[in-house]
Amino acid sequence: MDIPRIFNITESAHRIHNPITPEKLATLGAALRLEAGARVLDLGSGSGEMLCTWARDHGITGIGIDMSQLYTEQAKLRAEELGIADQVKFIHGDASGFVSDEKVSVAACVGATWIAGGVAGTIELLARSLRPGGIILIGEPYWRQLPPTEDVARGCLAHSISDFLMLPELLASFGQPGYDVVEMVLANQDDWDRYEAAKWLTMRRWLEANLDDEFANDVRAKLTSEPERYVTYTREYLGWGVFALMQR
Ligand code: SAH
Repeated sequence: MDIPRIFNITESAHRIHNPITPEKLATLGAALRLEAGARVLDLGSGSGEMLCTWARDHGITGIGIDMSQLYTEQAKLRAEELGIADQVKFIHGDASGFVSDEKVSVAACVGATWIAGGVAGTIELLARSLRPGGIILIGEPYWRQLPPTEDVARGCLAHSISDFLMLPELLASFGQPGYDVVEMVLANQDDWDRYEAAKWLTMRRWLEANLDDEFANDVRAKLTSEPERYVTYTREYLGWGVFALMQR
């Protein structure tokens, strides 16, 4: 079981697989007023940077589940490196449908809401692991500017304009299932660059080391087209944020 190989290539050097910087991840951890010993669940935990740094900085304990074997390995190494391996557990597996045995104070899905069919389904799934009064974290894109055409939405690698909402509508949508938005940290365009532009050097280095790989043509084509596609579309039209929710 694994994610498509292209992501394991293009994001192999990323610690954070989203347009949020280490500084903003730290801001978010502080904003949530985490208490030492609090349990945090992270579905689609990637390379584990959120749980590992919050374990170091706030003394939380965490469970992360991710479908990428590579990222899960990197998460375990990061936990060792930060000296908090006894506080966090990283599981390689499918997070869709995952409910933790023990209730958690924070249940997160940061940039992987497709695991439960979208934002609403993911909130429902996370709520099943949450203690009363706990916080749900959702990381999700939104339109900074509404794409004028479906072609522009596809340029952002969305299937259609209806994949995402504008920020006010996204916040309003959290109210439907009865949640208050109690905090948020948003990415700006420079933060997007750290996520997207970092893939280009990784691809370039990978190509130099893997010329004969069956994927080399795909990666070459992507490296050639991605910088222009990204600045034309994603960087202009797509926002991203992490939203903290509490049940009303
Ligand atoms: N939250 C992390 C990773 C976000 S990228 C971070 O912010 O760094 C999305 C992640 O979802 C990837 O790590 C990918 O491997 C993972 N993923 C995709 N489908 C999944 C599934 N069905 N179950 C668990 N993880 C999944």
